[in-house]
Amino acid sequence: MIELAQPKEFQDAMRALKSHARTIGFVPTMGCLHEGHLSLVHLARQKCDVVVASIFVNPLQFAPNEDLGKYPRTLEQDRAALQAAGVDALFVPSTETFYVSGFETRVNVGTLAEPLCGRFRPGHFEGVCTVVTKLCHLACADDLWLGEKDYQQYRVLQRCLSDLSFPLEVHMGPTVREADGLAMSSRNRYLNAAEREKAVGVIRALRAMREKFQRGDTRPEVLVTEGRKILEEHGFGPIQYLEIRDSKTLSASTQAAVTDRIFVAAYLGKVRLIDNLPLSSS
Ligand code: AMP
Repeated sequence: MIELAQPKEFQDAMRALKSHARTIGFVPTMGCLHEGHLSLVHLARQKCDVVVASIFVNPLQFAPNEDLGKYPRTLEQDRAALQAAGVDALFVPSTETFYVSGFETRVNVGTLAEPLCGRFRPGHFEGVCTVVTKLCHLACADDLWLGEKDYQQYRVLQRCLSDLSFPLEVHMGPTVREADGLAMSSRNRYLNAAEREKAVGVIRALRAMREKFQRGDTRPEVLVTEGRKILEEHGFGPIQYLEIRDSKTLSASTQAAVTDRIFVAAYLGKVRLIDNLPLSSS
């Protein structure tokens, strides 16, 4: 595995690889890797000749009051895990080399970025789109892997990269969960032992809502009331959003349908957890 820190060197290396590789698969991350990230690497490995990963805690996607400063950093372990997973090239830029002095371009997506996390994290998706477009460009990526765990991000980036005519295919890897159903996340390590036990409330709420729907109840407000009750019983609050929206357009549903998804963001103590579940599968 080669490792590069300078954008220009990374781009040159990727161009050189591209001359004899049919496809370059790319997995962007913020590090502190877990099985969720590595599952995306495995998917890329199955499809592409060359697999590239990046580790960059992107300041543009954090609001001033968010956890940029204390975002967990575990580079040594991450490097070893990526190497073991068969990554060919790792890009680990510093903030100063990635966003050189004077950098002021921003990439914005319209309506898909407005609801859900867009509403509670102003500027977040602008930061995500700016970093991922630049990274995909540098990586000469043909295939991009994103996790279902951040479903809105997947939809926003799919739109963004398609609108800007990036010559790549965007793939979604399924959410990888702990044994009790908690979606793996770098932020789960902020949870103390008591909170970690209660965190299962997220998936319990989502599954209960889906079961109610599958038993025939299509009233979003009834499903949401059920989910809220479970989250509150597990000590969650505030609940930023718990909503049923169309999986493609992310527009709010007036009547729940199999093409919809449930989206949640809620605090457990100081830790903000997000998750989502399609209403269709079991
Ligand atoms: P992050 O490091 O949190 O920016 O995540 C990097 C990529 O890994 C994103 O595409 C995430 O959606 C994906 N990811 C994070 N957690 C999971 C998970 N539990 N299962 C699948 N993909 C995930």
